[in-house]
Amino acid sequence: MNDLLSVEEAQELILHSVQTFSETVEMSLLQAVGRALAEDIVSPVHVPPFDNAAVDGYAVVAKDTESATVNSPARLRVVRTVHAGDVADFTIGRGEAARVMTGAPVPVGADAMVMIEDTEQRGSEVWIKSPARIGQHIRRRGEAVAQGNTVLQKGQSLGAGEILALAAIGRGSVPVIRPASVCLLTTGDELVEPGQPLPAGKIYNSNRYALSVQIGETGAVLDSLHVPDDPVATREALRQAQEHDMVLTAGGVSVGERDFVKQAVQSLGELRFWRVAVKPGKPIAFGRVGQALFVGLPGNPVSAMVTFELFVRPALRKMMGHRHLFRPQVQATLEHDLGAIGGRREYIRGRLRWSDGRWLARSTGSQASGMVASMIGANALIVAPARSELRQGDLVNVIMIDLPSGNG
Ligand code: AMP
Ligand code: MG
Repeated sequence: MNDLLSVEEAQELILHSVQTFSETVEMSLLQAVGRALAEDIVSPVHVPPFDNAAVDGYAVVAKDTESATVNSPARLRVVRTVHAGDVADFTIGRGEAARVMTGAPVPVGADAMVMIEDTEQRGSEVWIKSPARIGQHIRRRGEAVAQGNTVLQKGQSLGAGEILALAAIGRGSVPVIRPASVCLLTTGDELVEPGQPLPAGKIYNSNRYALSVQIGETGAVLDSLHVPDDPVATREALRQAQEHDMVLTAGGVSVGERDFVKQAVQSLGELRFWRVAVKPGKPIAFGRVGQALFVGLPGNPVSAMVTFELFVRPALRKMMGHRHLFRPQVQATLEHDLGAIGGRREYIRGRLRWSDGRWLARSTGSQASGMVASMIGANALIVAPARSELRQGDLVNVIMIDLPSGNG
């Protein structure tokens, strides 16, 4: 396929060839964070499990207080005290009250709680100076979650809020779609691992680290390997990598003399090579090695990171069962001119911030594809349509690749 594809067409073609895994794994709550639920979760209990006090105060019979005033308080006999964690194995009768702390069970017979601040303790009596409404300050059994209700649905991604709900219904573990395993192969004779001295003619292997973080953030399990520019080594590395669900390469897919990835993929599976109307992002290679999905990312680190974001992350999320595959987008006001955009849509690394009731977006600096610094502090990709002229104050679509922090 040699046509120029739109980003959406390329995303669709990739997602079309990705299946959600059917295998599930039972994971403890903290392991399950970031993963997608494999089943609906039904609560086996009521939350809360018993009627309990929402305040520190007195459990009373509302009727006993109906004519209470400051000058003529209801005078109730305090029979017991109940602390959080206690069992309330007694009954409140007319004319009686129990001192009950927040979260402690409200004894049978009582139908309202009166806040301690609204009462006066007089010896063994409590004086209440205004009528209590039936049910006030009582959290009813099952009011947060009723036993038998579906709390979370299959495909839900698990963050802190979902983990809260699971813990609250007593789940210690949940079935999630299994993690994808990814093999990342960086290529190039010019590359040296960070931490090593840099010989003449070499550069550091930055892709391996940046892409490892991006892959790790999806919840996939990662193996990474560096492959020299050698056809036999490249083929052998790909042959071993096909045990994984996805094989990702960085570099070696252009038309250079030492770009060996394409022929190795062709010999082990199939290769489709696309030009996508996007900047940054040289052609991206796509296909299969053995049973593994293959994506060949550009070698240039900035292009690799942006194309990972656009094409690989959604595919991994689909494999791992997430309902939402794409990042959220907002409309933001440009803080400065971006100038004329060429014939391909551009994804401009930038910073998004909320200010005076609106989103503001600015570029992180030179967008030449070798500009590693443009990734520093980037929490957004500003979508600049092809052949547009973008000026300060214009509204643009912005993809949030990270949460904006503070106002910086
Ligand atoms: P290639 O497609 O292999 O020709 O790579 C394109 C550009 O990206 C070249 O300048 C490479 O040196 C650079 N590059 C390729 N792989 C990496 C890597 N893992 N880390 C940093 N730069 C890379
Ligand atoms: Mg290379």
